[in-house]
Amino acid sequence: MTEAADATIMTRRLTTGVLLVMLMGLLVGVAAAARSESVEVRDRSGRLGLLSITVMDDGGAYIAPDHLAALLKGAWSVKGDRGTLTVNQRTVEFVRGQPRATVQGQAIALDAAARVVGTGWLVSRDFLGKGLPRLAPGVSIAAVTERKPVAKPVQGAVPLEELRYRSYPSFTRVVIETGVRLAYAVVASDEEVRVRLPGLSLSRPRVEEIGDGLVQEVRLESVGDAAVLRVLLESAAGEIKHTVLQDPYRLVLDVYRPKESTGGGEPGRGGMQPLRLIVLDAGHGGHDSGAMGPSGVMEKDVVLDVTRRVARMIEPGLGVKVVMSRDSDVFVPLRERTNFANKQGADLFVSIHANAHPQAVSEGVETYFLSSEASDNAARQVAATENNVVQLESPASRRQGDVLKSILWDLAQSEFQEESSFMAETVQDSMSKSLNLVSRGVKQAGFYVLGGAAMPAILIEIGFLTNRKEEKKLATPEHREALARAIYAGLAEYKRRYDQRLRTAQTQNPAPKGLPKR
Ligand SMILES: [Zn+2]
Repeated sequence: MTEAADATIMTRRLTTGVLLVMLMGLLVGVAAAARSESVEVRDRSGRLGLLSITVMDDGGAYIAPDHLAALLKGAWSVKGDRGTLTVNQRTVEFVRGQPRATVQGQAIALDAAARVVGTGWLVSRDFLGKGLPRLAPGVSIAAVTERKPVAKPVQGAVPLEELRYRSYPSFTRVVIETGVRLAYAVVASDEEVRVRLPGLSLSRPRVEEIGDGLVQEVRLESVGDAAVLRVLLESAAGEIKHTVLQDPYRLVLDVYRPKESTGGGEPGRGGMQPLRLIVLDAGHGGHDSGAMGPSGVMEKDVVLDVTRRVARMIEPGLGVKVVMSRDSDVFVPLRERTNFANKQGADLFVSIHANAHPQAVSEGVETYFLSSEASDNAARQVAATENNVVQLESPASRRQGDVLKSILWDLAQSEFQEESSFMAETVQDSMSKSLNLVSRGVKQAGFYVLGGAAMPAILIEIGFLTNRKEEKKLATPEHREALARAIYAGLAEYKRRYDQRLRTAQTQNPAPKGLPKR
């Protein structure tokens, strides 16, 4: 899950204001070899494209038949629990829940049953070896070769995959994702940072309002055969860093606030600030029901109720404002949840979930903070399950994309990891003391929902819906109230200790270096 940076350039702004860096053909070794998570589909005339392999919690490896159909210029259609992939008038049929494929009328046994995840079908990966040759003669599958030593900038039109940004306390990050590597040139002045991307073609100009006090907005528009990204500054920037990451290729541009403004000089920034706002995030919602118990209790309903209860306790009890990322049964994309918290300038982010495990005996409460290294396999699986929803959010073309890698694309949380783990311990402690439940402890894993939070953030799993006994409890208002009270008490204790540190910091140093706040 580590990101491989193949080029990192740090650019210091010149006082005269203009600096030009060309990265044509820049070559740097790659430190980390990524796990092979795609295979290459080829025909006799060459490469058709990459097909993602999805590894599910049960260890089974799957491919998305609609994605395969697109690569083979065929068609994928679903009728009831049957899905048919047609390529050049040859067909293969899959039946949901059945571990076989019928190619041109002939049945083939597969390692795993066809399944439907969210909106998409997944079929067993071994179909590629057992059935594909009959479906599409001449098409072959090759392992993706590891990083090529020289990544050559591509000539010709390259479409934009995604433009995104995030505001952090000390910098604003703009990411331009493209299917292939692009050359680029960065020019910085007092008013803007301009990035020229020869060969990048846009279907339309893009404008993103940011307004975070540093960057006013970003604009991406076509100029001749190139695209130009303009990052319009609201105030003078400090350092500007740009990095190219791969899988998928993306240019990451970080515009830093001037050093003096992050060191405590500017009001409301720098030193420890009192806790004013907590964003409570009830997991899932809308068409994403989350985990489901054997008798049908849904995670999205349980966690919304518990979150509401916590919210009602915090405002009067702690004198801290609470905002919920959702307060009804609606779907909120994972990235939006922390974007919302960042925009609100929240001081803490607390995401509440309920757990699921294939082994029904699993029980208890656990609290997570974000890390690229999971504490153990079980933690990794919980993160994988909670991250699954990302596949429901992305456009179809990217649905099977490399979710895990993009989860930690900005890892804002590394800045807050210590504080997050401290909050996780305090809350978990409170839950294990006051609830008659198994305490599974504090763990760390790569949760997408925590990835972009520009503040200390935790994710609480309040019990296992897959455990009949816990499901029954989680359905009762009494137990939900007790859970809410325990979470509230944990946050209250965290605030008490925080306030103590705040007082110490203020008496020792009027402008201390402490928690970055905004
Ligand atoms: Zn969940």
